[in-house]
Amino acid sequence: MSKLKALVIDEEAEFRDVARMMLEPAGFEVELVSAGFKGLEHARQQRFDLVCCSNNLLDIAASDFCGQLRAINGYDFVSVLILTDVDDSKILKQALLAGATDTFSKNDLRELQTYVERYSHREGHQLQGRVLFIEDSRVLQTIILDLLTDMGLDVDAYTHAEDAWDAFRDGDYDLVLTDILLEGVMSGITLVRKIRRMQGEVGNVPIIATSGFDNKSRKIELFHLGVNDFISKPIVREELRQRVINHVTSYQRLRELKAQQQSLYSLAMLDELTQLFNRHALREFSGKYFSEAYRFNRPLTMAVLDIDHFKKINETLGYEKGDSVLAELGAWLKRFVRDVDMVARWSGEEFVFLLADCGQEEAQALMGRLLGRLELFTPAGLNVTVSIGIATTHGDDKQHTLNSLFDLADSAMYQAKMAGRNCIKTYGYVDSVESDSSD
Ligand code: GH3
Ligand code: MG
Ligand code: MG
Ligand code: MG
Repeated sequence: MSKLKALVIDEEAEFRDVARMMLEPAGFEVELVSAGFKGLEHARQQRFDLVCCSNNLLDIAASDFCGQLRAINGYDFVSVLILTDVDDSKILKQALLAGATDTFSKNDLRELQTYVERYSHREGHQLQGRVLFIEDSRVLQTIILDLLTDMGLDVDAYTHAEDAWDAFRDGDYDLVLTDILLEGVMSGITLVRKIRRMQGEVGNVPIIATSGFDNKSRKIELFHLGVNDFISKPIVREELRQRVINHVTSYQRLRELKAQQQSLYSLAMLDELTQLFNRHALREFSGKYFSEAYRFNRPLTMAVLDIDHFKKINETLGYEKGDSVLAELGAWLKRFVRDVDMVARWSGEEFVFLLADCGQEEAQALMGRLLGRLELFTPAGLNVTVSIGIATTHGDDKQHTLNSLFDLADSAMYQAKMAGRNCIKTYGYVDSVESDSSD
């Protein structure tokens, strides 16, 4: 990508220097000129991206300068900034009417500085991203493909929506640019509808529709369908460019933001080693389990699992081996329960299950299966057993909190340790208490 070019026209040498010092660090190649007609001559010889012109040139009024500059081929969409040391709104209005982009005061250059930096950031950087582009006119396809590729974008171009849809399902796009009326069975409208029906982030990809029709109600229909933007044909290159920059960059920013949110959420809620919920997350989410249990009169069971003789693993095989056991066991536990249940790492080698709408006996059977399967599963290649304590609260009994139910399940777990480990004890379960005392 070639360097951005700026032309500065001012009679004061001092200001020309100031402008150069502002523009060069922002990435511009700068040409300095002292008079209006000379500036126009330069502009005819080569195209500048940005033109800064003083409001009080001796040879030409700023508004005439703007008018003549805009008439030069290629200057339709160039930024033309008028710099002024007077606050004469009439002169400035005239300049704007004649085609100036904006006016800035020479007495406070911070606004100009911000403009220049933003401009350079937007125009001076190659975009990165993938575009799915559908256009059935070969000629137009080639022109737009060149434009998008020039902007730095990776483009997959198709003439048929069917092929584009296949590509979309496999790809990861930052923008879809589609013609609406297409040859082939599938129209651009169907493509948009299919994309918007997709679940998750892919279904939110920005879509720009292009079409030759200029019917207001049809355009509005497209927006209802989920198109983000519309460009009428014949397509103005600069308009397309600016809209593409807007959509691609805001979508990418949104995705970055979501990724940041996700990683903050993980940091706050997930235990790093096992990727299970941490105790904080259990506190956050358990409220809903308790309130629903009491509201709908459903049992809620907590099971506390503690690895047996875990210290020995650390002592004999090292702490890292112990970590691998925890990580593999954690992942295994998560697969063991239903989606509606919650598994968390309570502390070191102690885990908690919160089993929604699950009574005592059901929980005992479930945990019994867990002990059986754990005999076959060897986390980090080791035979590991766990002791489990269960406590159930019912819709109609004393209202428990996370901590109070944990205390009961934890005391049952302690009973399981006492009973020789690798077994299950249930708080307040009469049979189990009787068999305990007969042990
Ligand atoms: P018991 O059968 O009575 O539960 O015996 P135990 O050895 O499993 O119980 P104890 O509570 O005495 O020991 C737990 C050990 O877990 C002690 C601690 O060093 C270890 N531990 C805690 N967190 C971690 C961890 O993140 N990684 C590793 N490798 N070890 C941990
Ligand atoms: Mg077409
Ligand atoms: Mg233990
Ligand atoms: Mg323990």
